[in-house]
Amino acid sequence: MTDDSTEAEAEAGETDSAVETYPSGYRRAVVDAIPDTPNPTRRKKELDEAVGATAFGFNLYEAAPGEQVPWGYHRHPDHEELFYVLSGSVVVETADGEIELGAGEALFVPPDAPNRARAVGEEPARLIAVGAPKSADDSRISEPCPACGAETDRTYEDRGDVYVLSCAACGAETTRFGAGSSET
Ligand SMILES: [Zn+2]
Repeated sequence: MTDDSTEAEAEAGETDSAVETYPSGYRRAVVDAIPDTPNPTRRKKELDEAVGATAFGFNLYEAAPGEQVPWGYHRHPDHEELFYVLSGSVVVETADGEIELGAGEALFVPPDAPNRARAVGEEPARLIAVGAPKSADDSRISEPCPACGAETDRTYEDRGDVYVLSCAACGAETTRFGAGSSET
């Protein structure tokens, strides 16, 4: 626990140095200096959080080939999302089948539409995900818990080289993500 709080303080300091605030509220950010947020991709910058945006979410991801971007096949009941691929390629699983996106392509995801993106090809995929309204970003993982059968949210535990996801309702382990690759 002591290690965790020390790490949290260090990360907060890094965030401060990554963002410069001007007198009228403008904020300039050095994105690479923003600490990564726990995520299956291991490289996730929550730029909206770093600059204090309140109306929309703005996340940057870098995913190695095979890595899955979100925690699971999920939907946001009251929240729109737009993915834009900067480089590499991703395949997005949707209710309408798999949709492949290459660099320069974007996918709009309407509220309540399930999706899960993963990087494909030979090079890492870099993408931006914008979502709004930020205040309605509740997420439902549309993968029934194998233990209790409920379509529940997940909790995660960082064990250093692996993230372990568990059912928020019954506590059963549902998924593990290893460092640098996803395992479902
Ligand atoms: Zn469960």
